[in-house]
Amino acid sequence: MTIRTRVAPSPTGDPHLGTAYIALFNYCFAKQQGGEFVVRIEDTDQVRSTKESEQAIMDSLRWLGLDWDHGPDVGGEFGPYRQSERTALYQKYAQQLVETGKAFYCFATSEELDAMREAQMAEGLTPKYDGRGLLLSEDEIKANLDAGKPYVIRMKIPAEGTFKFNDYLRGEIEIPWENVDMQVLLKADGFPTYFLANVVDDHHMQISHIFRGEEWINSAPKLLKLYEDLGWTAPELGHLPLLRNPDKSKLSKRKNPTSINYYKEMGYLPEALLNYLGRMGWSMPDGREKFSLQDMIENFDMKRVSLGGPIFDIDKLNWLNGLWIRENLSNEELMARFINWKFNAELFNRVLPEAKTRINTLADLVDLAGHFVAGIPQYDAALLTAGKADEDVVRQSLQFFIWELEALRTWNKTEIFAIAKAVATFHELKIKDFLEPIFVAITGKTSSTSVVDAMEILGSDLSRARLRVALNHIGVSKKQAKSLEKAYRDYPKA
Ligand code: GLU
Repeated sequence: MTIRTRVAPSPTGDPHLGTAYIALFNYCFAKQQGGEFVVRIEDTDQVRSTKESEQAIMDSLRWLGLDWDHGPDVGGEFGPYRQSERTALYQKYAQQLVETGKAFYCFATSEELDAMREAQMAEGLTPKYDGRGLLLSEDEIKANLDAGKPYVIRMKIPAEGTFKFNDYLRGEIEIPWENVDMQVLLKADGFPTYFLANVVDDHHMQISHIFRGEEWINSAPKLLKLYEDLGWTAPELGHLPLLRNPDKSKLSKRKNPTSINYYKEMGYLPEALLNYLGRMGWSMPDGREKFSLQDMIENFDMKRVSLGGPIFDIDKLNWLNGLWIRENLSNEELMARFINWKFNAELFNRVLPEAKTRINTLADLVDLAGHFVAGIPQYDAALLTAGKADEDVVRQSLQFFIWELEALRTWNKTEIFAIAKAVATFHELKIKDFLEPIFVAITGKTSSTSVVDAMEILGSDLSRARLRVALNHIGVSKKQAKSLEKAYRDYPKA
């Protein structure tokens, strides 16, 4: 049997460090045994999935040096590798599950389900689908189908007992069936949910081992039962520990940038970032901290993954990146990295028109436009609140600006400016006053090139990271964070 692993990202946002981490471990596991590694795009969430995100995920995995044998762009014998192109297959198996009595139709409307949950909560129960679809007679189902009533297909779950499975990394895990809901498999729009699509694809793509994040453990019973219901042998299943912030909370962009692009823009070497991710819960048998992907493959042993949540610590990454720069790159190679990174005609072409009208000597450029190649600029944090707006208003408008930018799909100055204008208006600020702290956050100074242009050129990841740093300088207490979230609910969404 071919050892075949996969990473199955959902293209709904920035390429996440966690995806690279899971990909790396699956990759090493397969390659160590001469197996294959697959990228599958799980884009069944039609509303949140975007082509830009899909491309960004694949670009960043390639940038890191992880290559795949099968995937949406390279094809492969079990393709297509994008779930939105495989819907007919999922529908066929959903029907099969209904026909074999493993799944059932549910015609309940969302209002009916809301009422059901409310009633359960009023009784002090945990809200849960009550199995009403199972009570319908054959005739009722037929009449509903003939009348064209929208429906979902749900899987049947045993009412009692405990599900046991053997996790590749964690040994035996037991989950009582009463904690498992009758999962929707096929949605009213004809698209599958994660569970059905994932099982159908892992089976058809002949995946031998699945290593996914520990946040999925509770869904294992549903997944493994579906294999049984479909009469298929399940792949081995193991759950890797989640990456954590230094305070042990789940790695989140509020505390640490999580987008791989951010690390690229900040000037981390892909081999150093990959090396660091390889140290998350895993170590070389001889304990050496610096190792290449090839070293990791040769020495890889999934059983040696330690399950305590590995801490993603920027200081440690900085140290390792420095080692890679000093020990692995000749001066010529380092120069090539700089050129490839930002010291190139492409960036100059974008920055010079901004700078030309503002410099008297060529040397003025460094002072004026240094922020285009700086990571996070240093400045006096008092400057952020030195303008007309009160600190509270700066805090809130800055936070709203960040949230709005996070949802922005096409990063260009027209869109950025439109958001700035809307956030300023909402806070009854003149655009100039709103932009004052933003200017400092982005350029590190009180006068420089246009800030919105600078944001366009810097790109989404670095711009947002700088704004987040500014917000942290101003400070957001837990209480303030809560009230900001609440206030944001009233912000008119585009
Ligand atoms: N699409 C899922 C995710 O985004 C994949 C989980 C899995 O590996 O099964 O995490």
